[in-house]
Parts: sequence; structure tokens; C-alpha cells
Amino acid sequence: MACASARPSKSCERPGELYEDIWGCPALAYYGSLECGPIGVECTFQDGYHLAEGHVYVEIVDPDTGRVLPPGTVGELCVTVLYRRAAPLIRYRVGDLGYVETAPCPCCVERKRLVLRGRQGDQIQLGERSYSPYHVEEMLYRIPEVGNNYRLLVDRDGLTVEVELRPGSGDPARVAEKIRSRLDCHFGAVKAVVPKDRIERSGGKTTRVSYQYGRGDHT
Ligand SMILES: [Zn+2]
Repeated sequence: MACASARPSKSCERPGELYEDIWGCPALAYYGSLECGPIGVECTFQDGYHLAEGHVYVEIVDPDTGRVLPPGTVGELCVTVLYRRAAPLIRYRVGDLGYVETAPCPCCVERKRLVLRGRQGDQIQLGERSYSPYHVEEMLYRIPEVGNNYRLLVDRDGLTVEVELRPGSGDPARVAEKIRSRLDCHFGAVKAVVPKDRIERSGGKTTRVSYQYGRGDHT
């Protein structure tokens, strides 16, 4: 078994697949932060992070009001570290978004699961609503013709998606329209999907969201 850094959800499997190909074993992601230490780890079902409830007490709060939200509702993670005495960390707002899943996991571990939904500051505003870029990624990778890389270009009128297609996926224009209509049904304001043979990789952190009106780029 290999452990990798956090991924937003079960559907975002591309990095895990890469590690599994290299190491020939299941790649289970771990989630934590420098300030809090370990927060959760995946089980072999890879459907959220079982919370390390002996180490941390996790609440999900409304990012604007700080009100505690019920299980299943997306909000900001608020973490209290239980074992710190000299330097306590109490109700620390991590800046990540997610929700707590209380339904039983097939692995039989009884600890609740945390499902991540990206960073609070990185949400894409489309029309009246905002979305996690990871949520868009999750939807994209459910479409079998989608290849290994994509870019989201956000401007004031909506979203343009540049995407690599899998080899042999058929007529690029037809596939692009299929992807556009699938995403538009879910998010709205998806202006165009542009098929690309290859999207340039940057040398450092991958930049996948580009704001065309001065917010800069995000990973
Ligand atoms: Zn499990």
C-alpha cells in the first residue's frame, strides 16, 4: 500500500492511478495539514477520508457565519486538535471545503468520512452560484472520452474548458459538444469545450484554473 497526498473525491483518480502503475499497489490518499497534523486517511474503498477522531475533532461550518452545519452539507473545515497541550489548536479554520459523510462505509471502519470539495478561495463563480474546481474535475473525469489533462478558463460570461481527449474517442467536435452539454446541464454557463491534442504542463504545480478577469491562476 502507498499513501499519497489528498485528492478531492473518489472520482478524481488520475494521480492515484499513476502511483498504482508505478508501485503496483493500491494508492490510498492521506489528508492533513501542517498546523493540524493528520486529519483523515482513505480506506481501500477510496470514498472519503476516515477521520482520525482520536487526534482531531472536525466540524463543518458555514464559511460566512461560522454556524455549524449538519452532516452531508458542504462547508469549511474547522478542526480542533485533541492532543496538543503546549500549543493548543482550537476550532482552526483550515480553508478547505468539504462535508462529513456519516453513512456506514463498506470497509466496516466506523469512523465518519470527510469528502473534500477544494479550497474556500478557489471557488469558480458561475452565474449566481460558486463551484469547486474539483467538482468540475470530478464531472469531467466521469466522461469516458476525457483524457489526462484539462484547463478551466473562467471569465465574466462563463466557463470555457480546454480538454485533452482520449485517443480513438471519435470526432473531436462531436465529443466536445457532448462534454459541453453534460457540464452545462450540471453547472450552467459553460460556453465552450475546446478539444486539444495536448495542453502544456507547467514545470511546478499544475495550473488548471485560469481567471480571465484579474483573479490570477489556481492549481
Ligand atoms: Zn472505509
